[in-house]
Amino acid sequence: MSRFWSQVARDLTPYVPGEQPKIANLIKLNTNEHPCPPSPKVVAAIRAELGDDGARLRLYPDPNADLLKTAIASRYAVTPQQVFVGNGSDEVLAHIFMALLKHEQPILFPDITYSFYPVYCGLYGVAHRTVPLADDFSINPTDYCNQANGGIIIANPNAPTGRLLPLAEIERIAAANPQSVVVIDEAYVDFGGESAIPLTARHDNLLVVHTLSKSRSLAGLRVGYAIGHGDLIEALERVKNSFNSYPLDRLAIVGATAAIADQEYFEKASQEVVATREQLIAELAALGFEVLPSAANFIFARHPQRDAAELAKALRERNIIVRHFKLPRIDQFLRITIGSRAECATLGAILSDILS
Ligand SMILES: *Cc1c(COP(=O)(O)O)cnc(C)c1O
Repeated sequence: MSRFWSQVARDLTPYVPGEQPKIANLIKLNTNEHPCPPSPKVVAAIRAELGDDGARLRLYPDPNADLLKTAIASRYAVTPQQVFVGNGSDEVLAHIFMALLKHEQPILFPDITYSFYPVYCGLYGVAHRTVPLADDFSINPTDYCNQANGGIIIANPNAPTGRLLPLAEIERIAAANPQSVVVIDEAYVDFGGESAIPLTARHDNLLVVHTLSKSRSLAGLRVGYAIGHGDLIEALERVKNSFNSYPLDRLAIVGATAAIADQEYFEKASQEVVATREQLIAELAALGFEVLPSAANFIFARHPQRDAAELAKALRERNIIVRHFKLPRIDQFLRITIGSRAECATLGAILSDILS
């Protein structure tokens, strides 16, 4: 705190990202990155854009990233006018809070969900009300169908639980709230969910957000996007062009475009994670863990006899980092990213050792 801080800076409660350690040889299972590298076509596209001397970097990128919007539009059978792109989906979400969720009525989201949502509420002065998840950490759609609200945001699959809400329930929520925007954050949908993007054709209040950080192995490139009715996208463009006209740099635009275009690689890499997840769930269950059903590239698990914080600490001492949230209802759980098969095998062996 300093006398130079504005009231805004004083009042913030910033998001605390998972640790990005500088130590080598760690098995990093704490921030849901993909164990496989991105498509080789991403690397080739970035190399080509860079060229021998990087001369293109002299020039500003396309402020509208039309190349990328066109690739995304074609992949999801929408028009480029229905696509918004940003510097990671966190930035896309930030613009959504400002442009579409800031109204008189409070917005609704689950009590246990992506912890950036309340942070954006704080930053932009968006009133919110949290809706408790059921005891089994599932979302009850009816809770979102009978309450006045200024908007709704749901991560599906939810974070950090990994639980999936069926598409029909998403549609029910969208249909029940024609006066407010319903945002579905599908950061993990490619690992076992079904995207709500096709529903945006019938529901002009539905906005679906994706990231290339998880299923496209590109957390380091910072690209996310939203798909919905053109009127929603236009509001996001207005905010974006009042904040930063060039959120995506040249390398990000070509790299992300190549990633979206390489469907075959993407499907194979996603299947690899799903297969590893199922193997890890079986292994942890055999060690006595209770594991929530997961449609994501992570699992959420607790051991009835062991304190989660202590387990996380013991793993850390053996060079494995997982995520532990010191929050009500979930402080006995560990969120474990699905790593490579070798990493998950090591995790299983070390946990078995710690527990014995
Ligand atoms: C990882 C994650 C994001 C943010 O992704 P970036 O594109 O890397 O900013 C958004 N929402 C949820 C639920 C996430 O888990």
